[in-house]
Amino acid sequence: MYEKLIGKLEEAEKGPFYTKEEFEKIFEEYKRKHRIRIYIDMDDTLCQFTKSKNEHLERNPDNKYPWCQLDFFRNLEEVQSGVETIKLLAKEGYDVWILTRPSIRNPLSYMEKRIWVEEHLGFDWCDKLILCPNKSLLIGDILIDDKIWENFKGIQLHFGSESCSDWETAYKQIHEYEKI
Ligand SMILES: [Mg+2]
Repeated sequence: MYEKLIGKLEEAEKGPFYTKEEFEKIFEEYKRKHRIRIYIDMDDTLCQFTKSKNEHLERNPDNKYPWCQLDFFRNLEEVQSGVETIKLLAKEGYDVWILTRPSIRNPLSYMEKRIWVEEHLGFDWCDKLILCPNKSLLIGDILIDDKIWENFKGIQLHFGSESCSDWETAYKQIHEYEKI
C-alpha cells in the first residue's frame, strides 16, 4: 500500500498540483488515518505454550494442569522470530497490539503475561497488551492466532497451520494485505 502512495508522491513532484512538502503532509495524514491494525496472540504464536505444557507433563504426569502453576506463563520460551518480527512491523508503521486470552483458572496468568511482555519486548510494549477472553470483540484488520476466531471482522492468519506456518510467512502475508 505504502509503495503505491510513494509512487504517487514521486509523480506529484513532477505535477503542478502539490509541492513535495504539501503532498508529504497529505501522505502522512493518510498513513495516520489508514494504519493497518494487527493483533498478535501470545500462546503458541509468540510464546511456546504447548511445548512447555508437554515438557511439564512428561516430567510430572500427575499434574494435569501445569499452566495453573506459578511461573508457567512467565517462563514460556519465544516462538522463533516472533518478537523480532513484531518489533519490525511496529517500526514499519503498522499498529501492532498483543491480544491474549488469559487462563481464568490461573489468575497469575494475568500478571505473568504482562511480565513476559516486558521481559521479552520491553516496557513500552506493556501499553500494547490487551487481555481479553473474546478476541472477536476487537476491531482491527489482521489477527494472527493459532486459534480461529470465527467472528473476528478482519482477516485472520492461522498461525502454525499450513497456510501460515511461521513468522517469516506471516510477515510476507501482512505485506500482501492492502487496506485500500
Ligand atoms: Mg494461542
